[in-house]
Amino acid sequence: MIEKSLKELSAALAAREISSVELTQLYLDRIARLNPDLNAFITGDAEKSLAAARAADARLAAGLAGPLTGIPVAQKDIFCAEGWLTTCGSKMLSSFVSPYDATVIRKLEAEAGLVSLGKTNMDEFAMGSSNETSFYGPVRNPWNFDVVPGGSSGGSAAAVAARLAPAATGTDTGGSIRQPAALCGLTGLKPTYGVVSRYGMIAFASSLDQGGPMAKSAEDCALMLNAMAGFDARDSTSLERPAEDYTRALASRDAAASAGKPLAGLRVGLPKEFYAEGLSQDVAQVIEAAIEEYRKLGAVTVDVSLPNMQLSIPVYYVLAPAEASSNLSRFDGVRYGYRAPQYDDLIDMYCKSRAQGFGAEVKRRILIGTYVLSHGYYDAYYLQAQKLRRLIAHDFVEAFKRCDVIMGPTSPTVAFPLGAKSADPVQMYLSDIYTIAVNLAGLPGISIPGGFGAGGLPVGLQIIGNYFDEARMVHVAHQYQLVSDWHLRAPGKVAWPEEEE
Ligand code: GLN
Repeated sequence: MIEKSLKELSAALAAREISSVELTQLYLDRIARLNPDLNAFITGDAEKSLAAARAADARLAAGLAGPLTGIPVAQKDIFCAEGWLTTCGSKMLSSFVSPYDATVIRKLEAEAGLVSLGKTNMDEFAMGSSNETSFYGPVRNPWNFDVVPGGSSGGSAAAVAARLAPAATGTDTGGSIRQPAALCGLTGLKPTYGVVSRYGMIAFASSLDQGGPMAKSAEDCALMLNAMAGFDARDSTSLERPAEDYTRALASRDAAASAGKPLAGLRVGLPKEFYAEGLSQDVAQVIEAAIEEYRKLGAVTVDVSLPNMQLSIPVYYVLAPAEASSNLSRFDGVRYGYRAPQYDDLIDMYCKSRAQGFGAEVKRRILIGTYVLSHGYYDAYYLQAQKLRRLIAHDFVEAFKRCDVIMGPTSPTVAFPLGAKSADPVQMYLSDIYTIAVNLAGLPGISIPGGFGAGGLPVGLQIIGNYFDEARMVHVAHQYQLVSDWHLRAPGKVAWPEEEE
């Protein structure tokens, strides 16, 4: 069961080969046995999950099921879920039980009928690339317990990689879906900004944050995105567009695959900046081999350039902290979350609550953000970064005149050892060198398993699409997954033959 695709699980549920309660119990058992080592889930509530599974079984029996009804899912703890502890990986929210559902949660649970298995660990307020900034401790990578799973959606990535859930939600502000997907050997999709509602998704940098799916394959991600996407009047940056079926390009072209060149005519842009200094040799080799495979599928490669890409990290580390410093000002010990037990007066209460409630990385971002927004520095940093953001986005507009999708690595290296970059924030920030520009431009991107690099660890191939071109991006990823099996490999440590059928 645990290696089945979402489509296969859906068929098994429809054919009554297994009930949602049985499927949910199977995953809950795996979580109970494997999570103590992985620390991927930080909140679980078996009763709640099983109640949702019973409701899903009733829908299935009544013939009211959708394509994903009854399928279990792991939820990143950044999404507010009614009655669930929602911590965002922070001490600040360590006792916050959400009184309402994020739109993503409502759509997945109430509308589509998926069953939440629990909330997954993450970097505190989604700030990090290794899951080591979490108040709840680091997550371990199922491929090797001594290396990081990536971040900030590290818990979701580890959960799916270890087969503790068939799919998960994530969020991506600078790479937090794609980078952990790459480091854990999964497929992770960051949609065009505005496609998935941010309502009830705890805000980090509002102009960059975007929710999306993480799963074993591109097809699974597309099915999840079908359930997550859509206009939401409660999010002012949600886009009013007709509903889309992100799997639509798959069915129509699967047939063409047998003809051998299913991607004939596809123009794949290779930005020279992606293949420059900083990219480790093992990752470069895997990416080159994957691109060669795309040529065999009929794609033609064209050289493109994103001349301002090297500015994306500095620009991001002005804009994201600026927005974060504003978004996090609400955590004052009065309205939400943690309040210092002892204080003298109101100001002292604010100061102590924030000093004790936030971790070091969050404080660093608040300091940077407050600085770049302050009078006297606003023009020099914030305004300048906004202008550069425009130039970075424009580079993509120019590149997409010459190609249909852009390909390159997701991350410059495979997963690194726990602790290797924690003392040097700039080294940590460089983990997102290939992903951040996509967020600054608001474009969609997907990371798919492309092979294995140093230490037998997974390498992710990133495919970047033009605005709203998710369906094509998924199709391009899917065609590769039809001729490769990297995405089907599971870490040896989690194989439990005794519980398989
Ligand atoms: N690693 C980046 C950061 O620390 C991106 C995180 C994210 O996408 N949420 O900000």
